[in-house]
Amino acid sequence: MKGPFIKDILKMNPDNKEISVCGWIRTKRDSKSFSFIELNDGSCMSNLQIIIDSSVKGYNEFINKLTTGSSVKIDGKLVKSPAKEQNVELHAENVTLYGEADPEKYVLQKKRHTFEYLRTIAHLRPRTNTFSAIARVRSAMSFYIHRFFQEKGFVYVHTPIITSSDCEGAGAMFQVTTLPLENIPKTNGKINFEEDFFGKKSSLTVSGQLEGETYACALGNIYTFGPTFRAEHSNTTRHLAEFWMIEPEMTFCDINGNMDAAEEFLKYIFKNLLENCREDMDFFNTRIDNTIIANLESIINEEFVRLKYTEAIKELEKSKVAFEFPVKWGIDLQSEHEKYLTEQVFKKPVILTDYPKEIKAFYMKLNEDDKTVRAMDVLVPRLGEIIGGSEREDNEQKLVKRIKQMNLNPEDYWWYLELRRYGSVPHSGFGLGFERLIQFVTGMQNIRDVIPFPRAFKSIDF
Ligand code: ATP
Ligand code: MN
Repeated sequence: MKGPFIKDILKMNPDNKEISVCGWIRTKRDSKSFSFIELNDGSCMSNLQIIIDSSVKGYNEFINKLTTGSSVKIDGKLVKSPAKEQNVELHAENVTLYGEADPEKYVLQKKRHTFEYLRTIAHLRPRTNTFSAIARVRSAMSFYIHRFFQEKGFVYVHTPIITSSDCEGAGAMFQVTTLPLENIPKTNGKINFEEDFFGKKSSLTVSGQLEGETYACALGNIYTFGPTFRAEHSNTTRHLAEFWMIEPEMTFCDINGNMDAAEEFLKYIFKNLLENCREDMDFFNTRIDNTIIANLESIINEEFVRLKYTEAIKELEKSKVAFEFPVKWGIDLQSEHEKYLTEQVFKKPVILTDYPKEIKAFYMKLNEDDKTVRAMDVLVPRLGEIIGGSEREDNEQKLVKRIKQMNLNPEDYWWYLELRRYGSVPHSGFGLGFERLIQFVTGMQNIRDVIPFPRAFKSIDF
């Protein structure tokens, strides 16, 4: 497609300019001597109104074939529209029909479908208002994320998708193998991974963080933005088996710098989204969840609360709410607790820090109390945790001790430990699940609706 696109055409002056536009027909209305078409080309939510006079060449042959979903090219004159809703409309002079869409069979007619049904037609759902808007928002958000880090001089690092470390600890892994599944080579009942493709057990990555740290400890500030895979057996509206993650890592940076970065980052991408994707965001706000814009605006304008885990537990214990999961020091917070803090107590985002070491990953820096670690989770209203991060343990001995306490093998982490042996520096980072972010900004309930082709437990239809 060469353009001009409908997004730009709608802003043009209606001065009888000759233009050509291509797209898919959303609706058609016929009157006595002409037809109205609403044309969409995916460049924006709005359609371009097109008037086809019955005197246009070939009218009688093509007009009945211009049905919802069919694809056309229209050459015509851009004129002022008498309608209030739009400034311009196109008077067709020539119509080229590319592909018909049989109205008896094409499922995306006017009738509204459920999101469940649309998931079964993932090849067609991007042609609906909701899914085209999600696609545009995903694309724009990726761009703002890259721009934020690039403007700050972070280096984009491509961490591996296939990994030999089976010990990132973030979730269950998918194995990668070329061994014949019907006849797996074994010695004494144990699989011979030497015969496997890499000569070693290997898996799909669950996080790029550990590899990201190696580059941060050379380049200063880095970020990753790529696919991650977790063999999640739970069938929830917040978990996918394949999802995208953003993981910045910053050196000479403690937990406070980490919190500042996370807060600035979220404010930047949300501000850009509201400023530049207004039409799509207004759609989500009217059709999906009427609190999202107000919520994002408050995040942009409010200073985030910073609170220690221990204080948060006190706050929760004080509350009169009957939580499903009882509160006491040491528990991992559930989303009901996170939502209570952000929605009832503070009414804004909260960064919780200094969690008990038992409930956090081995690589988080231990505090002097020997009980808590320098974790920081960013919690937001309506969703709960959106970012999880920490200052990393930069002392080799302490890290080895933590690895052993977690029943892991220090030898598996030899290269990770060497980062602490040679030129170790305080460093920090965080992880943001891209689909959770898109869910949050669009108000979409199910994570399977914010990625083009979702993969989840027992579900891979495309
Ligand atoms: P959860 O408790 O929700 O499973 P987690 O503690 O496993 O999350 P992390 O290991 O901290 O999550 O991963 C970083 C981020 O990746 C999370 O904050 C979340 O946004 C996202 N994430 C984690 N697992 C999934 C998943 N299965 N599908 C989509 N996003 C995910
Ligand atoms: Mn998880």
